[in-house]
This record gives sequence, structure tokens and C-alpha cells, in this order.
Amino acid sequence: MSGFLEPHSPSTVSHWIATNRGSETLHNHGKDDKLPEKADIVIVGAGISGALLAYHLTHPQNDEVSIKKGSRIVILEGAEVSSSATGRNGGHFAPATFLSFPKLTSSLEDGGAGLTDSQATEILLHEWDNFERNKNLIKKHDLIDKVDLWEGKIMTIYDTKEKLNKAYELYERWLKCLKEKGLQDYSDNTFCKDPDEAVKVSRVKNAFGYSTRSAGSVHPHRLVTEILKICLSSTDFNVSLYTSTPVLDISSFDGSQENTIKTNRGTIKAEKVVLCTNAHTPHLFPKEHPLKESIFPLRIQMGLITPTLDYSGVKGLKTNYGFPLAYCANTPNGIVLGAGASDYIRAGIGKPEDYINNSNDRELLPECTKYLKSFMTNTMVDWNENAEGEGLMRTWTGVTANTFDRLPLIGEIPNRKNLFISAGFNGHGMSTTHTCNRALARLIGSESWDQDFPEAYIISENRLKRKLVEGGHYRYVTGNKL
Ligand SMILES: Cc1cc2nc3c(=O)[nH]c(=O)nc-3n(C[C@H](O)[C@H](O)[C@H](O)COP(=O)(O)OP(=O)(O)OC[C@H]3O[C@@H](n4cnc5c(N)ncnc54)[C@H](O)[C@@H]3O)c2cc1C
Repeated sequence: MSGFLEPHSPSTVSHWIATNRGSETLHNHGKDDKLPEKADIVIVGAGISGALLAYHLTHPQNDEVSIKKGSRIVILEGAEVSSSATGRNGGHFAPATFLSFPKLTSSLEDGGAGLTDSQATEILLHEWDNFERNKNLIKKHDLIDKVDLWEGKIMTIYDTKEKLNKAYELYERWLKCLKEKGLQDYSDNTFCKDPDEAVKVSRVKNAFGYSTRSAGSVHPHRLVTEILKICLSSTDFNVSLYTSTPVLDISSFDGSQENTIKTNRGTIKAEKVVLCTNAHTPHLFPKEHPLKESIFPLRIQMGLITPTLDYSGVKGLKTNYGFPLAYCANTPNGIVLGAGASDYIRAGIGKPEDYINNSNDRELLPECTKYLKSFMTNTMVDWNENAEGEGLMRTWTGVTANTFDRLPLIGEIPNRKNLFISAGFNGHGMSTTHTCNRALARLIGSESWDQDFPEAYIISENRLKRKLVEGGHYRYVTGNKL
């Protein structure tokens, strides 16, 4: 259940939220304003998905894909701008690469996405395109410093020979797929297969080898805030944003072309509604609707680490990291460290139900806090926290939205005319939401799909009929049966 739908204790405050609470931000925006009675388009949710949808609706490439000039776009946010996954994530702009092949190409029966190698390669190309488009948007609007855009490398650490060899096999498989499409490696992958060199360069104690690729990081809360500000200042479209306005019900079941959106502060009628509600989507559907179950939350805990002096300045980490059981992004204000639900479960931290189908971003898990607190000391060579104020400074929880076939659900919801969805980003929305919402905005403006958009992401009756892998959520998350 989404926290804002019931009386609740406040959500934990992430590093991103804490460092974007000044008077220039959109906290409390529109909270006390009167809601309009009508809109052309209502966007529900002001995370990165809702923000990028609003951006593409208000910044169409040309008239053919544009909604009518002057259209009224209303954004309804149940809590605060970027207060859920986007404001609580790892801050990575890390397009997936060959390491995602096993999940993308395993059969649906085995808990994968059931794609061919060629389709999987299309998805990876799409993620790279997403990265490029995000960077272009940031540069076009002169936001690099405001949103702390960093472009560099991410290093994946392999702690055994088997894992290193497996990764290299996947790399070669991916290169072959690219070659078949007339393409080459676009993300500058390198491999280190010498264990001594791996420890020296990565400074990770048990590194057996590593690979690097191009990626980046960003302050996600500031990014969403800035994108929304750009939309709100549009002179071609009438855009408004109302925070603390949870949508409680959307009815068009009576066959009407118009949606009636019930909120805690009144009702709005709108021709089109788009759900950018990610992990919170199920509560808007009745028990018998497949979306009640086919998007489900996984809880994650993250932390902000102040580096020790030996890991600062010229001695600072030069890349972001994917460790065997965690990952981190280096930001100007510290290292954001976290682990996926599967990492925590595999590391024996907490119980599966602490993460699976758990959307509680209000409480911390003491076991996770302990894990994050000791992670850098246990993992990095000569990481010695000597001074008060070094190490884990802050920790928070957040929820990802996962789908049975591990792919986002984008488009008009089957049998619900004029109700659209852009959700289910499977813990990877920073690398998928740009092109997904660009395609969706173009669909809304032109009634046809963007040619460059992966068909596998389009919501369909067939996809909604897909079932959770046999073995349930536990197998979905860990790959193993309980
Ligand atoms: C801890 C954590 C770490 C992550 N790390 C990474 C990472 O490093 N890289 C990466 O690419 N991705 C990462 N992700 C995933 C990424 O953050 C998400 O995929 C992405 O932010 C999804 O954006 P969104 O806008 O769809 O969802 P959200 O940011 O969750 O936004 C949905 C919004 O909808 C609002 N809402 C929901 N229901 C209603 C309603 N009924 N009425 C009104 N408003 C409503 C919510 O309040 C929320 O603000 C991580 C996620 C988490 C939780």
C-alpha cells in the first residue's frame, strides 16, 4: 500500500531529497491551490517518468507528434516531487550491457524476459540511446552543474575466475549480435583478467578481475525538479503541478471516453490519463485486474558514505562500481552505496519478506544498516574510518517496481480507452524512462508508435496474461527455489 494513501509515519529521507529541500525546489508545490475541474491530459506521479513525459509532451520534435498547442496538462503527485524511487535511487546513469543478457534472454518459464539475442541487443541499444538523450537534455538546458551530471566509467568487479570468464563470454556474444546489426561496441568496454592488477586498480580486496564501460551519474532529485520547472514554464502548453494530491480512483469503466479522476482534494475530468505511478500502480486497479499483481514492489536500502582521507581528492575512487553484492556511485558529496534485494537476500541479510512485495520506505532494516556500515571497510583495500563523520552518514529505503517479464509496461492499457501507463521499470528507470516517455508522448500526440521504440516494452493483453515464474517471487528475485 502506498504510504500517502493512509495515515503514516513519514518516509525516510534520502541523500538526494535531503540535498534538494531549499526554497527553489518544488516541495509543497501546488499543495494548497484549487484543482481544475478539467484537463486534456492528467499525469499521475511526479518521478522521473512523469517529469519526462511532461517534458516530451511540451517539447515535441515536430507538429506531427505534438498534442494540440495550448492543451492543459495537470500533474498530480500523491506525495512530493521525486519522493519515491527516483528520489531514493543509486544515482546511476548506467545503461545495461551484455551482463543483462541472461535475464533478458532466459525463457519466461525460467523467470527471464524471453527475448532473442537480437531483441535483447535492441533493448541495450535503447538504454544507450536513453543515456545520450538524457545528457543532451541536461546540456541543452544548461543543467550540468545543477544536477551534478558526471560522465565516466563504471567498473564491474568479478570475485571468481568463473564469473570473469562468464562475463567475457557474454561480452563476445553481445559483440556478435552487434556485428550482425552492422554495429560495434559503443560503450568502450575493457576487461582486466590479471588478479593482481585487478586489486591494484580497483582497490577491491577480493577482485579477481574487472570490466569497465562508459556510464554516468546524476542527482536524480534535482534532475526531476529542473525538468518539471522547464515544463511548468512552457508558454505553448498550460502545465500545472499539484503535490500532496493522491489519486484514489480513475473511472472510465462505464465505457465513457472521458476519465474521472478522484483525488483527496476533488475530482478532475480528463480526456487522457497517464499512470507514471511505478511501484504504486496496483492500488489503482480492482482485485481482478492483472495490474493488481503484475507490477510488484521490491524494497531496497541505500546509504551515503563519506570517504576516508585515503579515498578523497586525488586518491578518490575514479569510477562507479558494481560489486558482487552491492553497487555504488561517486558523487561530489559522497559515495551512494546500495544493494539490490537479491544481493541482500544472497548475502543472508534480513528475511525475503523484508524486501519482496514490501513497499515500506518509512523504516530502515537494522541488518541492512549494519551491512552498509561495514561494507567499505570489508571490501576496499586500506579503508580505515578514523575520524568521526567518516563512513555511513545517512541511510534510507525505497521501492522498485518489477514486472513478471522484467520489462517496463508502456502504452494504452488494454480495454481502458485513454488510460495509459509508463511504469514497471524494474529498478532500472534512470536508463529507460527517457525513451519510454518520449515514445509515449509521441503516441499520445500522433496515435502511432515511435519506430525506434522496442516493441517488447509495449503493454498488451498478452503481456498482462504472463504469470509469475513458478517458484514465486523468491525464485524471481534470487533465481533459486526456496
Ligand atoms: C533504492 C533504489 C535504487 C535504485 N537505483 C537505481 C540506479 O542506480 N539506476 C537506475 O537506473 N535505477 C535505479 N532505481 C530505479 C529507478 O529509481 C526507478 O526505475 C525510477 O526512478 C522510476 O521512476 P518513476 O517515475 O517511474 O517512479 P517513482 O519515482 O516511484 O515515481 C512514481 C511517483 O508516482 C507517485 N504516485 C504513485 N501513485 C500515485 C497516486 N495514486 N496518486 C498520485 N501520485 C502517485 C509517487 O508518489 C511517486 O512520486 C533504483 C530504485 C530504488 C528504489
